[in-house]
Amino acid sequence: MTSDDIAGIVAERRRAFKSGLTKPLAWRRAQLTGIRRMLTERSSDFEAALASDLHRSPTETQLADINVVLTEVAHALSRLKRWTAPKRIATPMVVQPARASIIREPLGVVLVISPWNYPVQLLLGPVVAALAAGNAVVMKPSELAPATSAVIARLVPEFLDARAVAVVEGAVPETTALLEQRFDHILYTGGARVGRIVAEAAAKHLTPITLELGGKSPVFVDDSVDLTAAAKRIAWGKFLNAGQTCVAPDYLMATADVARKLVPLIAGAVRELYGSDPQASADYGRIVSPGRFAALDALLASGEVASGGQTDAADKYIAPTVLTGVADDAPIMQEEIFGPILPVIEVSGHEDAVRRIAAGEKPLALYVFSNRDDVRKAFLRGTSSGAVGFNVVAVQQTIIGLPFGGVGESGMGRYRGEAGFTTFSNEKAVLSKPLAPESLALIFPPYGARTDKLARGLVRTLS
Ligand code: NAD
Repeated sequence: MTSDDIAGIVAERRRAFKSGLTKPLAWRRAQLTGIRRMLTERSSDFEAALASDLHRSPTETQLADINVVLTEVAHALSRLKRWTAPKRIATPMVVQPARASIIREPLGVVLVISPWNYPVQLLLGPVVAALAAGNAVVMKPSELAPATSAVIARLVPEFLDARAVAVVEGAVPETTALLEQRFDHILYTGGARVGRIVAEAAAKHLTPITLELGGKSPVFVDDSVDLTAAAKRIAWGKFLNAGQTCVAPDYLMATADVARKLVPLIAGAVRELYGSDPQASADYGRIVSPGRFAALDALLASGEVASGGQTDAADKYIAPTVLTGVADDAPIMQEEIFGPILPVIEVSGHEDAVRRIAAGEKPLALYVFSNRDDVRKAFLRGTSSGAVGFNVVAVQQTIIGLPFGGVGESGMGRYRGEAGFTTFSNEKAVLSKPLAPESLALIFPPYGARTDKLARGLVRTLS
């Protein structure tokens, strides 16, 4: 596909948007139900594609990809009328009589660029929000999940209105050509390096962006919790999709005493989840590419293997692994791991953990396993992150009313549920005031003592 082809695709969607095609609620509903039909009637196509791209079990594809999008669709369909209704805002006495309201109108043509790790959810989730808000959409699936990308490119034109919704497949050249075009919003999910490229390209057109990035999401565990139950939840969240989950716990912090007890419990939890040979489990994933496999393989040397550690390059398999004795300056602690290796870092206590987290970049998610109120409060007050989970990992993603996104190096902007609808809308401020009676006369010059008195007390009246 040439740059001209891509410019043409975007121009066609802009024409469709400008024609008013995408604004009626009936059109929006038809697109959302189209996505629902596509994901239910052709779910086996998606299951097969994810099995090929990531060795995903069909059950996990349903749980972590398809169902997330179907929930977004159901949520948006049942609330669309309310979200699009003008929202009345109170007017202060001095401006009355008047009516103020907020109208959420679509932005225009939205670009959604998605990664490979949850290639259905992370593409179509934002697309649902953009369509619900009445936008035309161009979507760019990740080339690193080629089977899923092909299914999306084949099915989207069949189930959605191709005049306003387009798929552009491809890698860097295609994305670069897309980013040269003018969009009205770009939502990018992926690593921070490319996030900066997207931000720079968007700045040329003053296009607003949502960046869903990653980073090192920590998990802290203390001795006030049931360590066996905590180990199971941590092992599940860390090794789901072979660790290739943006909100997975990246590394674990605990005191030496807790770590000593927890490490064998995590190994035990892995056996319960995936058996004694996870490579033989239908439920355990593979690393997405040979390049990522090699990078993760090299990180295994960052500490001592306490459990796991087996690899098979031909199968892109890395066992669920726990590393101990990891130094702060070890390579594995310098970057997001994004794979099935869990380093355990010994800390002196929760204050030490809070200090370490606060000293680094703000994570996408932070997890604390503790039943102590003071410990939970210390993390809430002392650190900043996109999300916090107490005694749980990754499951915050399933709560559609919780806005999803990062802060600082882990991203900017939010989507999910109403937060997504708002992201892809212009909140237009509307004020309507009859010309008579002229209540504004008081603020017109020439100013006299009455206006002066009013001006000095105005904040009280307007706030
Ligand atoms: P990726 O390599 O699939 O890249 C993401 C997208 O960027 C793809 O569509 C790709 O084609 C495009 N891209 C790659 N290089 C580009 C370039 N030079 N110019 C323009 N576009 C380019 O995905 P990834 O970056 O490997 O994804 C992993 C990262 O994503 C991790 O850091 C992870 O934490 C993060 N992530 C974040 C979320 C979230 O919702 N916050 C979700 C999943 C993954």
